[in-house]
Amino acid sequence: MFGRLLRNLTKRPLGRIFFTTSNVFDTGGKSNFSAYRSAYGCPGRLNAKVLILNQNYEPMSVVNVKKAITLLFLGKAELIEAQNGQLVRAVSVAMPFPSIVRLSVFVKVPYKKIILSRKNILRRDGHRCQYCGRADLPLTVDHVIPVSRGGEDSWENLVCACVRCNNKKGDRTPDEAMMSLRRKPMRPNHVTFIRHVVGSLDERWKPYLFLN
Ligand SMILES: [Zn+2]
Repeated sequence: MFGRLLRNLTKRPLGRIFFTTSNVFDTGGKSNFSAYRSAYGCPGRLNAKVLILNQNYEPMSVVNVKKAITLLFLGKAELIEAQNGQLVRAVSVAMPFPSIVRLSVFVKVPYKKIILSRKNILRRDGHRCQYCGRADLPLTVDHVIPVSRGGEDSWENLVCACVRCNNKKGDRTPDEAMMSLRRKPMRPNHVTFIRHVVGSLDERWKPYLFLN
């Protein structure tokens, strides 16, 4: 859905705008437009991730840098945060390498409801056991309050648990088993999943993803 909205935004005068990976510059800390001196190839950087904020600063999605630059060039977005000291050059213009951009107009996004599924529970919990924190053991989904005790299938009652912890806990509540959860399980929203799109999170994004 977001992909289509973004395509609509970038559909128009794409015309002569194109980017080459050899046009990425490292300015050694300087980040103004005229700072670049020597160019050297940096393949792959144009696949770097950029956080897109809606006009009201709400985080919307993560796109590759190419798409973000297209939005900037078309005046559909403004630069909020740049990567330190790096420039990207398209045709004859150079600009700071974007890290966060903000759309100039508010886009109403009908976010899809995230369905309650095993896969989404594991994604929400970062594929990490919520009792012991390990990620290297086979994972299961555990009912915090067991079904036999009236526990429901809900975002608040299902967590990712390794086989070992799940067996150890058995048919008991966390209190009875003296096993505490690393964090309170909650219904995820689209921001939760933005965090998972990228492996390591750009420090600059954290305030916008409400992680500070
Ligand atoms: Zn565990």
